[in-house]
Amino acid sequence: MIPVQGYEGRRVAVLGLGRSGLATAAALREGGAEPLVWDDSPEARDKAEAAGFVLHDLTRQNAFEDVALLVVSPGIPHLYPQPNPVIARAMELGVPVDNDIGLFFRSFATKDWDAFDQMPRVICVTGSNGKSTTTALIHHIIEDAGRPVQMAGNIGRGVLDIDPAQDGEVVVLELSSYQTDLARALTPDVAVFTNLSPDHLDRHGGMGGYFAAKRRLFTEGGPDRAVIGVDEGEGRYLANQLGMGAADDRVIRISSGQKLEGFGWAVFARKGFLSEWRRGKQVASIDLRQIAGLPGAHNHQNACAAYAACRTLGLSPKQIEGALASFGGLPHRSQLVGERGGVRFVNDSKATNVDSAAKALQAFPRIRWIAGGLGKDGGIAALAPHLGSVVKAYFIGHSARDFALQVGQTAHEICETMEQAVARAAAEAEPGDVVLLAPAAASFDQYPNFEKRGEDFAANVAAILAG
Ligand code: ADP
Repeated sequence: MIPVQGYEGRRVAVLGLGRSGLATAAALREGGAEPLVWDDSPEARDKAEAAGFVLHDLTRQNAFEDVALLVVSPGIPHLYPQPNPVIARAMELGVPVDNDIGLFFRSFATKDWDAFDQMPRVICVTGSNGKSTTTALIHHIIEDAGRPVQMAGNIGRGVLDIDPAQDGEVVVLELSSYQTDLARALTPDVAVFTNLSPDHLDRHGGMGGYFAAKRRLFTEGGPDRAVIGVDEGEGRYLANQLGMGAADDRVIRISSGQKLEGFGWAVFARKGFLSEWRRGKQVASIDLRQIAGLPGAHNHQNACAAYAACRTLGLSPKQIEGALASFGGLPHRSQLVGERGGVRFVNDSKATNVDSAAKALQAFPRIRWIAGGLGKDGGIAALAPHLGSVVKAYFIGHSARDFALQVGQTAHEICETMEQAVARAAAEAEPGDVVLLAPAAASFDQYPNFEKRGEDFAANVAAILAG
């Protein structure tokens, strides 16, 4: 745990008692503050009380008397579409609002560091897609190199739940736009921006607000090195704004598809090969094509981002190359879950929106595509340009019929359930085909979450391969 510094003996309100909220309350208490905790859900309150925290109804009239700070969970809106009334009240009264990320950056460095040979470093990863994969990949590469490393944030543990840093340790944090939006301190040593596409726009008042929330990671204090995906206008703008010119190698540009040879420092992937260029010379080239854990151009973008972040730590291209090859991938993101007779079964249950499903459809040449669930606004019309690789679609869930109406001439059938879809696709698949779950829809019509959906896919595949 990272004890929170700067609030000794003071009352600090904590709104939202999920994983990060409880970790925050514990870290405040450890640092000598008095956490006053609240959540709208009675179950969450019971859990907090059982953990020994003092409940304090933040919806009451005088709730903020003597309160030095309000710390809120990322799921609670503070501005758009409507501010949560507790946060609105704190703002009205001038009580500062922060989150666990802000507290982490204030509290991570301690006096113990004076005795360290090598200062601990923090790498933060943000972007619309690929955050978790890139974060896990950076963690894997550093671990493989034998350096102490911890991973937290939007992936795994809450940031205040990690252990205090050891000599030379690296902490890798995945940060969502909700987290970067509110943190009052954001001072990573290395910051990574993977890409940008519309998401969570209701919470940010539109695309401009969404980008502004992510950009804060690069502007509040400024990282020593910025790794920036320049395949969209926003990334190019950010890279341009941070660098003193094309030759400034504090900015490392990354791309999936473009050659970026004329810049101070760049890492890009083309036709399955990653290249690093620095000061006009090629420094390294790595063949990514056979790495099972990183299929498709989207994962090659993640590989470039992770490679660049690790190069800033002084790891060699060879060291990184070995670790890339042994990366197993994350569950539910382009995850190979079975193979038989030249047919591969890939679980991309996390492809809950059209953009991520489009990337999955571009990653394989012959696809038997399982999709559907709770469709999003606009359905899958935008996937039309990416259906060329789909041999046949098998639609499930609530949106099955809507999706069937939107795929034009592409062969398809309505299967309703996962079990039937996997059985039909497996029966019809030929050597070289990939049976791909990339739903382009939320899971909540049939499953509690995307993880359970992916597990169900994998279980059905396992049953068929065993039979
Ligand atoms: P995040 O943490 O940003 O949601 P994940 O690594 O969990 O990202 O991947 C989420 C979804 O997006 C998965 O379906 C994955 O296959 C897809 N994806 C992964 N990396 C990228 C990328 N660089 N660009 C677009 N889509 C991606």
